[in-house]
Amino acid sequence: MGENKFVLTNQRSIILDYIKDNHTHPTVDEMFNHVKRKLPRISKKTVYSNLKFLVENDLISEVNVKGVLRYEPKIDPHHHLFCKSCGKIIDFESDKLLDYSMGLAKGIKDFHVYSTETNFYGICKRCKGLRDGKV
Ligand SMILES: [Zn+2]
Ligand SMILES: [Zn+2]
Repeated sequence: MGENKFVLTNQRSIILDYIKDNHTHPTVDEMFNHVKRKLPRISKKTVYSNLKFLVENDLISEVNVKGVLRYEPKIDPHHHLFCKSCGKIIDFESDKLLDYSMGLAKGIKDFHVYSTETNFYGICKRCKGLRDGKV
């Protein structure tokens, strides 16, 4: 670590490039399949440790969805909408909700809350359209 902290290796730049404009919240496996195409000899473990590094340095963030780690370029706290039909995860920003939750958190005894996020479950526009026969 130390002064090399922010040196981006080729592997890290490839990972970062892929995730930069990707809002689908890819899993480690999805990241691995992509990176492998550019760096055929890379292992999943290496991809994973690179992702950890990027998370620790606030370049990307990690979301735990039902025990599966997913990654995204958005590092500000935000909420997520989960489509029950296709599994799509959509970012949902609401400062109002964050403020409200953090306000509630202040009232929790014997526990200090650093952050909060809320999950919403439902059906996305596309799936709803398919279900209603509109697509
Ligand atoms: Zn859907
Ligand atoms: Zn997100």
